[in-house]
Amino acid sequence: MPRANKFRHWAIRRISRLIMAKVVFHEGEEYKKIQFQFLISLLMMGGILSFIFIFLEVIGLNALGSTQFNSTLALFACSIGLLALIREDRRRYRPIAWTFEAACFLTFISAFIFVPQDELRVVWFYVNIPAAYILLGRFAGAAITLATLLTLPTVNHFMDTPLSRNALTTFSLSLIAVSIVFYAFTDRTIWFFKRMVASNRRLRDLAMRDPLTGLLNARAFYAVGDMLIKLARRNNAPFSMLFVDLDHFKSINDRYGHAVGDVVLRDFAASLARHVRKSDVVGRVGGEEFALLLPDTDQTGAVALAELLRRTTEAMIIRVGENTLSITASIGVATNAAHHRNIADIQKEADLAAYAAKRLGRNRVASFDGDCAMPLNA
Ligand code: GH3
Ligand code: MG
Ligand code: MG
Repeated sequence: MPRANKFRHWAIRRISRLIMAKVVFHEGEEYKKIQFQFLISLLMMGGILSFIFIFLEVIGLNALGSTQFNSTLALFACSIGLLALIREDRRRYRPIAWTFEAACFLTFISAFIFVPQDELRVVWFYVNIPAAYILLGRFAGAAITLATLLTLPTVNHFMDTPLSRNALTTFSLSLIAVSIVFYAFTDRTIWFFKRMVASNRRLRDLAMRDPLTGLLNARAFYAVGDMLIKLARRNNAPFSMLFVDLDHFKSINDRYGHAVGDVVLRDFAASLARHVRKSDVVGRVGGEEFALLLPDTDQTGAVALAELLRRTTEAMIIRVGENTLSITASIGVATNAAHHRNIADIQKEADLAAYAAKRLGRNRVASFDGDCAMPLNA
């Protein structure tokens, strides 16, 4: 990357870190993040532009008169104050955006009344309309438009040198035009973002979920499991893993057909998901193989859950057409040890334990014993 570009990226990162310091946006909140950043830009712009007006007044280049000078000072203070407040908490977004919109509106009305020598002062109202639509949505945009359309002609009526009827008509109609354009634009933008969020969610589900059972697929299970293990190690918290393999599953396919096998897998997966905690992670890691990562669970807890799963699996009656069939599962349990740095380390031991459960006759739970190369029956 060229040096200038690198510097630009660095500067942008620093500034946004400074401003967005304690504010976090999650996936699916892209539009809210854009609105938030837009508000920050507007507050900075409000501060800078009012400062320029103040400066020009002080050096005698642009006379506002004392009332408008004070209004501009107030807008300057308001912009800087709101900028300081918005950093702390994103829940303040709406009150801050409304306050800023109202402050701008009042400053522009004040300019309209107190700086009659400025023929172009109504231009500021056009700036307010798009800002209201983008910051606060369609209702606020339409409300500010209506407030402007009602206030300006009323104030104009009492002015010493009022705008002509032609000027008022042009102002009102063009303001309505700007408002309609931004109404449509905001409407479409919000619609687009909603669709984008929904399609991102669909894509992520497609990439992470097993289509048959709806559980995490192997890749997603290992990724999430790995993350949870790292977290647990950092917090010195226990964690366990279960490896579940259905017994003689091939014979179900052979006797009833693959489609019936699929129904069994789906029912079994739903039963697994029903019996675990929300914080547990369940994945389909092979054809008829499932794995569970259990945070905050020691060996006793993991064996108890494994035994519960074994019993409920044994008791399941799966109806497929005229057939009712039952299944059993062999479950291997492994619990955290110092050498478990990632999910592959613990999975090896849960696999070995499940293999032992099979050898010992199936439909049983076996735990990996850390002292032995081979698992022991639990
Ligand atoms: P064991 O008790 O030793 O585990 O025997 P098993 O028959 O369960 O094990 P094996 O590994 O011999 O066979 C697994 C079977 O699972 C073979 C395969 O056809 C079936 N299978 C794998 N994925 C699917 C699937 O998505 N749908 C269906 N219906 N069957 C599947
Ligand atoms: Mg298997
Ligand atoms: Mg099997």
